[in-house]
Amino acid sequence: MRQIHHWINGSFTGGSSTRTGPVFNPATGIQTGEVSMASSSDVDDAVSSARAAFESWRYSPLTQRQNVMFSFREMVSARRLEIAKTLTSEHGKTVDDALGEVQRGLEVIEFACNIAHLLKGDYSEQVSTGVDTYTIRQPLGVVAGITPFNFPAMVPMWMYPIAIASGNTFVLKPSEKDPSTSQLAAEMLAEAGLPDGVFNVVHGDKEAVDALITHPDVAAISFVGSTPIAKYIYETGTQHGKRVQALGGAKNHMIVLPDADIDLAADAAVSAGYGSAGERCMAISAVVAVGDAGDRLIDGVQARIEKLNVGPGDQPGVEMGPLVTKQHLDRVRGYVDAGESEGALLVADGRNFVVDGYEEGYFLGPTLFDNVTKDMSIYTDEIFGPVLSTVRMEHYEEAIELINANPYGNGTAVFTNDGGAARKFQQEIQVGMVGINVPIPVPLSFYSFGGWKDSIFGSHAIYGPEGVHFYTRQKVVISRWADPIHRGVDLGFPTHG
Ligand code: NAD
Repeated sequence: MRQIHHWINGSFTGGSSTRTGPVFNPATGIQTGEVSMASSSDVDDAVSSARAAFESWRYSPLTQRQNVMFSFREMVSARRLEIAKTLTSEHGKTVDDALGEVQRGLEVIEFACNIAHLLKGDYSEQVSTGVDTYTIRQPLGVVAGITPFNFPAMVPMWMYPIAIASGNTFVLKPSEKDPSTSQLAAEMLAEAGLPDGVFNVVHGDKEAVDALITHPDVAAISFVGSTPIAKYIYETGTQHGKRVQALGGAKNHMIVLPDADIDLAADAAVSAGYGSAGERCMAISAVVAVGDAGDRLIDGVQARIEKLNVGPGDQPGVEMGPLVTKQHLDRVRGYVDAGESEGALLVADGRNFVVDGYEEGYFLGPTLFDNVTKDMSIYTDEIFGPVLSTVRMEHYEEAIELINANPYGNGTAVFTNDGGAARKFQQEIQVGMVGINVPIPVPLSFYSFGGWKDSIFGSHAIYGPEGVHFYTRQKVVISRWADPIHRGVDLGFPTHG
């Protein structure tokens, strides 16, 4: 059995805890690894190492930090296939999809290669006689990242390249379900010249997370995962005086208006609904078909999903892999049962889907519901599986109201050929990331990623300029170097002149 250990102060260690967790290949259902589960004392070791490293890393030249990121960028680029295959073996998504994930992470590393541009402050000369004012941005200290299973390479890369290039040191707690890509990242960062202790990985579950979010030497927490845990991390972290950004779950809607290009919309609904088996926080899970778009759209989606090639993610030509764990498969199946018994029309049923030779794999075929109503659990809950719900609406206004009433606000899309309808959507919709004839509106690394409402807790979106602001704090300096003007003692409040 492959052992997956923590990475603390530049080397792998099993830590002090004897607790471990199983890691499976979701396509076969076979356990392939055993991951160490950190105790609070292991977390303490990682934080101590990061704290010690911060004392020198914070003073390292900006160009040195950028150079490390540049070397790391070259390694990730050269080893992208190895990273993708590693994550496919634990997550289940196709290697092509995994390569896309690595590419989107790589773009954040590239952003960090030029971080100096965003760490610049402002300068105002002569704000008063002989007095100048300027701002500088300084790192926070030890920052922690807690990440979900569904993007084991990319989501940590949303965090640590920016945090580290800004002069912080980092402790990552990746998902215990697919922990191995973080091992590769740790090795590559060390090879790229990152000093020991600047980047650490602790594996584990609630015990490790609780130790991090209450640790007195952790200055800030970045979290990405489900909404209940995001809320818990935000509340506990802020109660302990930390800066917290906690991104949560989603229920993303895609409106299709009658004038839309239905082929384009059907392609988009299938790609965004079933890509990565629906295990994406930006997956479309509810299609809202307005007026007579409904029948045409359902026909288009049904025709496309019948042709989807579902199987093990490492096989050529496969378009959709299995779900991540047996427990998750059972949960998603349970939602399909519930949708049927609550009265939705089951157009395509993936429950009995079996892949020859992979009978123990966690597969569910693409599933499509029509006539879904807003009180059904397949509509209200984040399913996180290959289950697409179609809600029919008579009018565009009702569709917008439906989305705005939803507690989640991560991503959404409208498909239309009417510029006025699209503009209304971008202006009125209560969602953080909006697509117009684009189903998965994930911003590139020079923008920032973040939803609204229950899809985020905290004031900063992740990566991009907001990421730099999250991982630094501003200091303002007011200085007088001109010949001092002696005005004597003056207890009045300083004014300019
Ligand atoms: P999760 O919330 O179960 O786990 C996320 C992290 O929290 C993991 O590292 C896990 O070990 C830890 N954790 C789990 N339970 C905990 C507890 N009780 N106390 C403390 N820590 C705990 O999420 P997941 O199942 O790994 O990932 C899927 C979820 O993440 C979905 O809801 C998805 O929408 C969301 N997600 C959101 C975004 C976004 O950007 N908004 C991106 C990716 C995933």
